[in-house]
Amino acid sequence: MTTQHIPPEWAFEFHGHRCPFMPIGYRMGKLALAHLGVEREKDHGLFVFPELGEGHPQTCMMDGMQVATGATYGKVLMAKTFYGKLAATFYHPKKGAVRFALKAEFIDAMGKFEFFAYRKRGVEPSEIPSAVTEEVIQWMFDQPDEFMFKIEPKPDFKFTPVKGSFNKTKCSVCGEYVFDRYVRTKDGQPMCIPCSGYDR
Ligand SMILES: [Zn+2]
Ligand SMILES: [Zn+2]
Repeated sequence: MTTQHIPPEWAFEFHGHRCPFMPIGYRMGKLALAHLGVEREKDHGLFVFPELGEGHPQTCMMDGMQVATGATYGKVLMAKTFYGKLAATFYHPKKGAVRFALKAEFIDAMGKFEFFAYRKRGVEPSEIPSAVTEEVIQWMFDQPDEFMFKIEPKPDFKFTPVKGSFNKTKCSVCGEYVFDRYVRTKDGQPMCIPCSGYDR
């Protein structure tokens, strides 16, 4: 099946440039929602664990995942595993978990497009000629789901979100509020982490 799942224009505005990886993450996120049988997350019920790391390309996928699923960084619904892999696990406590990974064959086929020759020379996506970028994006939209994604249900996946609390305390040194989970005690006084000099 080929379910293009073309991102809305605001997704490209949010992301900042046009590239193939934000739309790939978007498609992955939309397919994961369908797989789990859940709607785009309004509140705090769906978690995404991308396996991407840092210092490597293609992390743009994570912006597409956030747009598609509503499981955003700011809602603390997204946490990277730093495995350095092009994959993510999508987890809903009532619906279970599914892992999506990009297939190596798909990555290899996509890597032949001129877009990546520019990227390897260090050209930023916003500076790559638009026809070059649109060529690879359109090619990606036209690929079948099965060619792009390995999909594995993860029945044993476990995750316990941190219990939330609204309690906060004023740091005895800087006077700024610090949420209680992060309050440290030094010389019998409540302090924020920077003022305490303690490690996190
Ligand atoms: Zn991008
Ligand atoms: Zn302080």
